[in-house]
Amino acid sequence: MKTPANKEPGPLPAWKRIPRGLRFRLALSYVFFFALILAGIGVVFRQTLATTLQDHARAMLEEDWAAVRAYLRIERRGNRMEPVWYYDKNDPDEAFFVERLKRVFILADAEGRILEISTGYLSLGPETPETIRKVMDEGADVWKVRLTGHGLPYLVRFGTILDERRRPYFMAIGRPITDSAGILSSFTWEYLALAPFLLVSSAVIGWFFARRALQPVNALAETAGRISASNMNLRIPQRGAEDELDNLIATFNSMMDRLNASLQQSRQFSADVSHEIRTPLTSIRGQLEVALLTCQTAEQYREAILNSLQDVDRLAQIVKTLLLLSQAEAGHLVLQKAAIDLSALIRDLVAEFQIPAEEARVSLHANLPDECVIEADRVQIERLVSNLLSNAVKYTPAGGTVRVSLQGRDRWVEIEVADTGIGIPKNYLPHIFERFFRVPNSDPTSERGLGLGLSFVNWIVKAHGGRINVESEVGKGSRFTVGLPAGAHQSTSDTAPLATRPA
Ligand code: ADP
Repeated sequence: MKTPANKEPGPLPAWKRIPRGLRFRLALSYVFFFALILAGIGVVFRQTLATTLQDHARAMLEEDWAAVRAYLRIERRGNRMEPVWYYDKNDPDEAFFVERLKRVFILADAEGRILEISTGYLSLGPETPETIRKVMDEGADVWKVRLTGHGLPYLVRFGTILDERRRPYFMAIGRPITDSAGILSSFTWEYLALAPFLLVSSAVIGWFFARRALQPVNALAETAGRISASNMNLRIPQRGAEDELDNLIATFNSMMDRLNASLQQSRQFSADVSHEIRTPLTSIRGQLEVALLTCQTAEQYREAILNSLQDVDRLAQIVKTLLLLSQAEAGHLVLQKAAIDLSALIRDLVAEFQIPAEEARVSLHANLPDECVIEADRVQIERLVSNLLSNAVKYTPAGGTVRVSLQGRDRWVEIEVADTGIGIPKNYLPHIFERFFRVPNSDPTSERGLGLGLSFVNWIVKAHGGRINVESEVGKGSRFTVGLPAGAHQSTSDTAPLATRPA
């Protein structure tokens, strides 16, 4: 029974899936950046507008200031100084203009005593004697924005004006800037009202563009979803845009090529294994059937059993080698590295191979230094050299020669096995390290190889961090060269001349 704890999580509902999607996040970041740009533009525009409006208000107040200086005289009346306005009282325009100038106006003497203040100025709050004295001491013009009791903004200019005896007085005039503030605030509100509309539009456009941008990714996912072992040939067509997505498609397609190749290889391998196992099995079955039907004497039975045993051996050999090879390729075969004398190891193997070489009437020679110590797995290196030697002897017709040599070069050692045998045709050379590969019709009739030896040799060389090279010419012979890193223990007796000993 299923408990809630091990219940499989079902697919997410659409409203939960959308915010996790790339499309949503792309559109969201688009809106986010658009909002930032919109806010930036708004701030810059508002600032520019505010500065322009302020400059305009200042210029107007500057004109007013010049006009006041033209119309106003400070004269002695009795024992006190008084402001006197000179203008044509019969000219209604001029009278109106001067009245407007006097609407927000204050005049004080150097001690801070107020000589005249308009009611308009009173609503901004009269200036203290300290402010007045400070302005007069500094002598510079001061601009301020002041608010009336009702919160209406005024631009005020403080400065000094001289009387007829050139004594300085404090004067300030003001002008409402309600219009400027109004323009600024209506700009702000209209912009803020427009912003949501722009943001929604940008979200719609972003959503649309994100869909277009992700279309190839969806196509990729869809194709990947349709691929199964039976249609590994499916590929996603390139868009020709030469962009990152085309790059992704190309990478995906080439990954599919590699997967396909390795699937083909593994299918081929299964077919080869079945074939290799079936052949000796059929042969065993045939021999046993024939024996059952035809053998009469113990001698005949014995011979039939012996023949069958040979095939059983071959089967066992195939299974053992395959097992080792698959262990090796799966990384389960760990190298047992130790310092070994490669020279002695090859010398012993060459001695062992003298018997089969003699039987095949092939002369086997070795050219080895006295000693060559490297760090390697003894069992695997023995397997490597035996495979190369047995191939060389096997594929060299009677009268031929096989030579083995060993040389140390810097931190590398090089084993060379050269024969004067049948050679390998050029077109087969790239395949000889593949499992079960055998050059057609190359096996001497007596001995049929498994086609696994060189795959193993190749793995052993790679596992030791080495390299292998083959040169071959049909009818002339082959030369296998294996380079192995010497490891920490290299001590080839390089100085001694290489001893040539027919082993
Ligand atoms: P096999 O057990 O058949 O020898 P290998 O994997 O050792 O399998 O070799 C693969 C094939 O490479 C052989 O079938 C043979 O055709 C070819 N080959 C290997 N070594 C030699 C050689 N020294 N001379 C000629 N052909 C060779």
